[in-house]
Order: sequence, then C-alpha cells, then structure tokens
Amino acid sequence: DSCILLLSHNYQKNITQIEHSTGPNDLGPQLHKIISDSSTPFNFKINHDLIKNLSFGKIIKYNDGLFELGYNLFPKETYSRIISELGIGDIYLIGLTWENLVYGSAILFLKRGVKLENPEAVETVVKLGAIALQRRKAEEALRKSEEKYRHIFESYEDIYYRLDMDGDIIEISPSVEKTGGYLPSEIIGKPFSDFFSEKALIKSFTKSLLQDKTIQDKDIKLVQKNGKTMEASITARLLTDSKNNPIGSQGVIRDISDRKKVEKKFKASEEKFRTLADYTYDWEYWIAPSDEITYMSPSCERISGYTAGEFAADPKLLLEIIHKEDKEKFAQVHKDKKEEDNTPINVEFRILTKEGKVKWISHLCQKVYNEDNQYLGIRVSNQDVTSKKLTEESLRASENRFRTLFYDSPDAIFLENYDGIIIDANKAACKLHGMPKEKLIGKNILDLVPSNVRDQVARDFSKWLNEEIRHFEGFSLTVDGKSIPVEIHGRKIRFENNNALLFIVRDISQAKRAEKELMLAKEKAEQSDMLKSIFLANMSHEIRTPMNAIVGFSEILSDKNLSTKERKEFINYITQGSNTLMSLIEDIIDITKIEAGQIKINFADCDVDSMMDELYATFLKMKKKEGKRRLELRLNKSPYAENLSISTDPGRIRQILSNLLGNALKFTPSGYIELGLIIENPNEVRFYVKDTGIGIPEDKKKIIFERFGQVEGNKGIDTKGTGLGLSISKKLAELLGGDLTVESEEEKGSTFYLSLPVSREIKEEIELKKPAPVLPMDFSNKKFLIAEDSILNYTYLEALFQKTNVTLLWAKDGKEAIDICKKDKDIDLVLMDIKMPVLNGLEAITAIKKFRKDLPIIVQTAYAMPEDRERSMEAGGNEHLTKPLNAEELFKTINKYMS
Ligand code: ADP
Repeated sequence: DSCILLLSHNYQKNITQIEHSTGPNDLGPQLHKIISDSSTPFNFKINHDLIKNLSFGKIIKYNDGLFELGYNLFPKETYSRIISELGIGDIYLIGLTWENLVYGSAILFLKRGVKLENPEAVETVVKLGAIALQRRKAEEALRKSEEKYRHIFESYEDIYYRLDMDGDIIEISPSVEKTGGYLPSEIIGKPFSDFFSEKALIKSFTKSLLQDKTIQDKDIKLVQKNGKTMEASITARLLTDSKNNPIGSQGVIRDISDRKKVEKKFKASEEKFRTLADYTYDWEYWIAPSDEITYMSPSCERISGYTAGEFAADPKLLLEIIHKEDKEKFAQVHKDKKEEDNTPINVEFRILTKEGKVKWISHLCQKVYNEDNQYLGIRVSNQDVTSKKLTEESLRASENRFRTLFYDSPDAIFLENYDGIIIDANKAACKLHGMPKEKLIGKNILDLVPSNVRDQVARDFSKWLNEEIRHFEGFSLTVDGKSIPVEIHGRKIRFENNNALLFIVRDISQAKRAEKELMLAKEKAEQSDMLKSIFLANMSHEIRTPMNAIVGFSEILSDKNLSTKERKEFINYITQGSNTLMSLIEDIIDITKIEAGQIKINFADCDVDSMMDELYATFLKMKKKEGKRRLELRLNKSPYAENLSISTDPGRIRQILSNLLGNALKFTPSGYIELGLIIENPNEVRFYVKDTGIGIPEDKKKIIFERFGQVEGNKGIDTKGTGLGLSISKKLAELLGGDLTVESEEEKGSTFYLSLPVSREIKEEIELKKPAPVLPMDFSNKKFLIAEDSILNYTYLEALFQKTNVTLLWAKDGKEAIDICKKDKDIDLVLMDIKMPVLNGLEAITAIKKFRKDLPIIVQTAYAMPEDRERSMEAGGNEHLTKPLNAEELFKTINKYMS
C-alpha cells in the first residue's frame, strides 16, 4: 500500500522531472496526475545542506519536515492533495547522488496506517532501479552524441584516422572512399605507411610526431586506390595513456590537390606577371598593407638610379627622392583621396635621381583588392615623362611666344575660315572694331568693311584664297562707324588642322594723314616761295619809293639857292620817306623776332578808354593828311570802356589796332571806318575795325594773315605793301592770349576783330598815363663823338641833336673813334655803333675804356638780341640802345650822364 515517485534533477537548468511513478490500484497514475495538474509542479531549489544529508541509497523519513528542511519540492496545494486524496501517512526520501550531486530522488509514499517494514529491501530496490535509470540515461545520451558525431564523421570530407603503436590503421572515416577510393574495411589493419607515396617521409614524420606530439598541416603525397598520387595535408597527434606512454596516434588528412592545382596555376601566372613586370619599361612596384615593398621592377634603377634592393631596404626612400617643391603636391593628392574611392591616382612630379638629376615621373597608383574584397596593398606604376615634359614645356614656351605675338601685336590680326567667318582675332582687332573678341568671332569679314566696298571685298575674297592677292590697301569700319584706310596682308595657313586665312590689318590713317600733311606743307612751301617772290618785288618797290625821296631830296637840299619854304617842303618829303622806311624795317624786325620767338610781351594795365581816344585822334589826323574827305572816321566805345582797365601789353594793342586802321584807310576809298569795342562776355573784350572798303575775297581770307600774304591787283589802290602787317598783328594777338579774325564781303567792306582775354575790374580812379614831355635838352658846352659808318644814321642823329647845341664829332669806323678819343680829351660822351668797318664798335669801346675809363659810351645798334646787350656791357659800354633810336629814350639816357 505505497507508491514511489522517481524524480530527476538537472542542476544547470534547475529542472525537476518525473521519471517514473508506480504503486498498486492506480496509485501511481493518480499521483502523477495530481502533480501534473499543478501549474507549477515542482519548486525544486537546491539546498546544499540537504544534499549533504542525502547520501546515495539511504532512506530517510521526512514526512512534513520535508518543508522545514527547505526541500520545497511541491507547492503546498499539491502536497495537500497528495496527502488527502491518496490517503498518505508516512513519506520517505532516498537521494540518488553521484559524486556529491543529487541527480535524482525517489520518494516513497505510504498509506495512512501502513508502516515501513523492510527499509533495506526498499533501499536495495530503489538503488537498483536508480542505477538502471542512470545507465539508461547515460546510454541514451551517448547514443545521441555518437549519432551526432558519426554524422559529422561520416559527412566529413577530411579523413580521420587512428593508428596503433605499430602504425597500423585501426580506425578511418568513410570519407577515405571519396578521396582515396578505398573502403574503410579495405585498409583497416594495414600499415599507414603503405599509403605514403614518398616512403622517405615516413621516418621523419614518425620522428617529429614522437618528438613534438603534434604535426600541423604537413604536406604529403598519398597513393590513391587507382595508383595516382594525391596531394594532402596532414595534422596528427600522439595518443598517450594516463601515464603518458604513447599508445598510438590519430589525425586528419585533407585532400589539397585542388588547392595545389590553383597554387600551381597562380605560381605560373605570378611568374608570368613578374617576368612581364620585370621587363616592363616602366617602374612598377607593389606595397603590401604592411608598407613593405613586396615587388619592384628592375627598371627602377634606369629611372631613379637606385636599385630595387635599395628601395626594399628603405621604403622611405620612395618619398625621399621626390623633389622638394613637389612633396606637398604628392602628399595632397593622396590626402584628398577618400578611403572608399578606389579609382587610380595619377599625379606628375619630379624626383631627384641618385646622380642628382631631376626627372619627371607620371605616377599611377591604385589600391588592389582580391575577389573577397581583401586589401592586398597598393600597386604603382611610375613612368619617366621627362622628355615629354621638356617638349611640352618648350612647346608651351613657344606657344606663349606666338600667343603674345598674335594677341599683343599692334596690328589687327584676324583668322578666318574659307567662308570669311572670323575664327580668332587679337586685341588690336577688337580695338579697331570696338568689339570684344567673343562678338567678333563668328562675324563675317564683310560686316567689318564699309558698305560701299563690301561688294568689291566679296568679289576679291576668292583671290585671297588662291593667293592671287596678298597685299591690299582698303578700308575698315571702326567702332564709331568711320571708314579708315588700312593696309591688309593676307595668307593661307593651316590652323587647328583646318584651312584658314590670316589677315594682318594695319591702320594707315596716320600715315595717310602724314602724307596729306606733307602734301599740304609742300603746297604751302611753294606758296610761301611764291609769296616771298611777290614780297621781294614789293619790297624793292617799298624801299625804293621812300629811298628815292630821301636820296633825291637830300641832293636837292644841298642847292644853296633854295628858298626856306622849298627847303622845308623837301625836308618834309625826306622825313616822310624815312618814316615809311622805318615802319617797314620795324615790321621786318617784328616778324623776325616773332618767328625767332624772341618778342617780349610787357604786361601792364591798359586804360582802354583813353587808348581808343588816342588812336582815334591819331587816325583822324592821318585821314586828313591823306585827304580822304569822303571817308568818315567813327569811334564806338562800349559804355563799359569808360572804366575798363585790362592787363595786357598796351603798346602791342596799339600796334595791332594801328595796323588795322592803317589798312582800313588804305583799302577804303569812301564810306566810313569805325573803331569800336564789344563786351559780350566778362572774360573777353573785342576791339573791331570796320570799314566799307573794297573787301576781301573769300579765298584770300586766310592768306592775308600769312607772311607776305596779299590780295593781288587791288583795284584803285596804288599803295603796295609788304603783306607783313596782318601776319604780325595776328601773331601778336595770339601772344596776348587772344585772336585776330576777319569778316568781309567784296565791294562791301571788312571788319577785323581783335579779341583779348581780360580779368575785368572797375577802376576807381583812372590814371591817365600821359607821355612825359620831351625836355628841351641843352648840351651847349658838351662835345659828343658819334661813331657811325652810315651817313644816313649820322645825319639823323645830327638832326636830333641840332636843338641841344652840342658839338658833334663823327668817326666813320672803330679805329677812327679810338684816334679821336685819344686826341681830344674834352669828349663828354660817345655814341657807338657796333657794326663798322676796320674795327668794330666793341673793340673800340674796350680800347677807349683803357685810357678813358670814365668816358660814358652808349651803344646804339641794330643788334637787338639780349646777348648783344650783354656783349656791349662786357666790352665796357655803359648803355645799350637799339636802332631805330627813339629820341625821347636817347635824350633821357644821355641826360643820366650829363647831370
Ligand atoms: P599790307 O597791307 O602791307 O599789304 P597786310 O598784312 O596789312 O599787308 O595786309 C595784307 C593784305 O590784306 C593787303 O595787301 C590787302 O590785300 C588785304 N587787306 C588788309 N586789310 C584790308 C581791308 N581793310 N580791306 C581790304 N583788304 C585788306
């Protein structure tokens, strides 16, 4: 009346399992059911104290104490159900242990009131049952594991074997059939050495196995059943017993014939490639992931001077030989390269060879991976591109030269295709047509020539193509639509593998202009030559007329029978003639001075109002003298003139206006002459002289302002002139900052305008500068020597001095002057001419000053240049007066020395 529950415990997994339940009248199944019904059948937790108390096969009564002991096997409900439903009294526990581990337990439940009568028998039964259980479980596990290994063993490609101490095969995996062709049964019991194809190997194999106890991946050759040799790798281990005595060996044999084949193939191809690389002209190398150079082609020596061995010994050498200016560039391209980017790097740089030469290298490198994406290193190919570089550089330099020649040429250069379309143009071309290059390119050449020659150019184009024309003078259209003369040179050329025409266009407008100017200058020269001839003809007339009067009447004067009236009249003729001559000479001097740029302008305040009055008065007298009764003289002063003072050269203005008034008098038979002033703008005054005379033809208006320019054949005007007056006046006007212009109509009259710049100011007080009256000089007790070779000049001076009562002596040359001075110690003053025969004035002065240092010597000469004055002073002269002598100035100067 009891049941037994057999449990197993798994410590690792903390699992308790019912292995068996048994008892009479369905007690066993009922017990099983109650336990299985529970949601958590077992509470088994290891209590090590309990375990210590449980020894194998010892039955212990636990009853309720089961819980107190901590052997909390069942939940409380399950336990209560077992007790009540099965009517359980005592409970006994037998621990099933193995080496201190409880692997299971047998629990004996007794019905209430039943006593355990033979505990030893129970113990024995349980023990036997437990052992059987244990064995069964172990067997089961072994079976499972064996099965597993057998599966592996049988499906294994490699051959597992075991040998005994004699070296005979005692076990071998079935795979031996597949690889060796043998059935295991055929070879078990046979010596292992029978299968070695190289018998010599057996000894060393056994020896090293005994010595090292293991053999790792040893390549051997085995004999297959069909007699062929099989490449194999063997890994073996020595088997020993517990006392370390060898009892046999086991190992694994791997068929490596495939691998060997591949290896062989690789080796062959490697050799092929290596040979190829070795003989390659370029410098090839391979850097392993470890940075070590695994290969370098021998050509490295040809390029760098270093041998492959030198590079292998020092991998840094590769970087060291890079030219220092290129190091950064080299580093940069490698730095810029992204890790995942596996495109090749190509960079050109210089290296320094072992001999110190610079060489250009084109460097191509790429990372190499195998099929499995395993990084194998960097493969590099260096090519020597030095000569290519040098050619490139010299090409570039020459390209540069030609580019400069083309683009910076002062001539416009065009490249055109055979349709006349511009394909390139230089800077000068762009400038000529006022277009940027982009706009010029693509244009037809016809667009760049003036419309009137377009047809001609189009017709001529084929001639250029046939090189019938190579040079041409034509016209080009400029920026502002002007047509300018150009000189064109054209040629057929090859340009970028195409036929093209090269046109060099030179702007020759400058040259044309110069040509024109030259023509004009020539015409002018011819004209002025002609004018000069007229001038000379006129001049002789102009000189002869007064000279005739002077000479003629002077001769008559010597006749003592002349009456005073007659004498006066003749003298008057002589004076007139002299004045005419003098003004002629003055004009010539003026024009000479102007042309030599030596005329002086003396700026001073000019009182316009009184100057006009004076001029008017003078010309009124002149008109009267000339007896032009039918001519009216008018004065039209602007109201502003009254208080107007301008800073200019008053003498020169007077000279100009006198000349204009003189001409007007000369060329106006009747009507009127008007001197006037116009002030239209504050910066300018305009004097004018208007007449109602003969007028000036349109084509002569320019000529009259030129030297010797005259209107030929002026009707009814008997007075000839020199044609110098207006030319002098115009130049003077310009020197004063103004201008002289004319408006005229033939038969109607002319108006000459003298415009002058002013800084206008209103004068508060007009100070009239009246000429100081010439003092009546009295040199009664004085004796003057006049050194003068010209009798005319002497007579003039004599006349001037007449009223002063001075005693005059006359020396006709320098030597005579010295002699007279030596003889006559009473001489008070010398008037010395310079240009004299025998001895000139300057020499005479120096000589006289030697013995009469105090004697005042006044130089009176026609030499009017500043350096002439200096020369006079150097020679010892006291004063220097220029001819024609001004009486007032002369007397003033003499007075300085007489007082
Ligand atoms: P000249 O009077 O000595 O010939 P000018 O240079 O003063 O030289 O004048 C040049 C020419 O200009 C004169 O010969 C004359 O033909 C012309 N001319 C000048 N003034 C007048 C004028 N008021 N009316 C007409 N012709 C004039």
